Amino acid sequence: MTAAGPILPGATLGVVGGGQLGRMFALDARRMGYRVVVLDPDPESPTGQVANDRIVAPYADAGAVRELVERCDVVTYEFENVNADAVATAEGAGHVRPGSGVLRIAQNRLLEKGALVENGFPVPEYVEVDTIADMVRGVEKIGTPAVLKTATSGYDGKGQVVLRSAVDLREAHASLRGQSEALILEAFVPFELEISVIAARGPDGDVACFPPSENQHVNGILDVSIVPARIPDEVRAAAVNMASEIADALDVIGLVAVEMFVTEDGELLVNEIAPRPHNSGHYTQDACATSQFEQLVRAICGLPLGSTSLLSPVVMVNLLGDVWSAAGGAPDWEAALGVRGAVLHLYGKSEARIGRKMAHINVTAPDVETALSRALEARERAAGRG
Ligand code: AMP
Repeated sequence: MTAAGPILPGATLGVVGGGQLGRMFALDARRMGYRVVVLDPDPESPTGQVANDRIVAPYADAGAVRELVERCDVVTYEFENVNADAVATAEGAGHVRPGSGVLRIAQNRLLEKGALVENGFPVPEYVEVDTIADMVRGVEKIGTPAVLKTATSGYDGKGQVVLRSAVDLREAHASLRGQSEALILEAFVPFELEISVIAARGPDGDVACFPPSENQHVNGILDVSIVPARIPDEVRAAAVNMASEIADALDVIGLVAVEMFVTEDGELLVNEIAPRPHNSGHYTQDACATSQFEQLVRAICGLPLGSTSLLSPVVMVNLLGDVWSAAGGAPDWEAALGVRGAVLHLYGKSEARIGRKMAHINVTAPDVETALSRALEARERAAGRG
């Protein structure tokens, strides 16, 4: 809450970034009676198509970020690679939530792991790497297999190489060295599965977490989210607790998605955090009392957080441009929507490229295995293979 109280429907919310996350945020915000302004270089961005107004400028344009903050009652962002300096400067002119502190941490894997360790959260063993000599020392310490990642600007599995043995060392170093000022070498975690928890935290410190989702990736990109995650109840509770404590420790106002590895013996290790809505939280749109996007609106506006209870088992499948390519054009929506419980969320992107996130389908069903098989079937049908 601000000194003046919560930011109520009728107010104007700003979002930096015009992708699908901004779009779904804007759709929920508008449903709730807010006005939405988006900052994106593309006037016809997925968010631009549904916002009330657009500032057409690069994300890094400090003047444009400031204009957005001045025009809006509160501003948020839909991806991490927003210019944190521009956000920090603009913060003086109004509310940016989450603030630049957690944004900076999430932008750099070294700062991120440092902040998590400092606050007592478990992460995979890691070392900072600059030179080849650092690499040699790192591999001696951590062993192989290991994962070499760029500290900055990696996403969806980009900017990382798995080191199967010390022999790969030079090649791995050479392949990433030019992409980022700093590199990080992490122990390869032989995880049982990957989960994520989205925590929402309001200005008064209230926290609400969505149920953990079990996430399967293909080529480093999220493919399927399964909820409830197929993990023991004590692991579920520990994951929710950890996400809630991370939201507190990093003083998040808004959402923070916490991605974790679950090891064979049920241990949790934090892989990364994102202070924004997350692909693995799309299931909330059709299976929770409150969607992650409405929750973000509530959190940044200082309204009471909504119920995060799960109303039904659910599976989300991502539809990448690959589906368009398999279908030889527009997917077969009629066939896909014939699957019981399937709900389509299409992002309004004009060009379907391989690997590009174009849409997702949520399928609710009485049990999670049925939801999984129906969700996969819906995607197959969309691709013309059903
Ligand atoms: P990231 O960009 O860090 O989220 O990594 C993308 C995907 O790579 C993760 O979702 C994991 O499937 C895999 N991955 C990343 N780091 C590790 C690790 N230290 N051990 C095992 N797998 C990893």
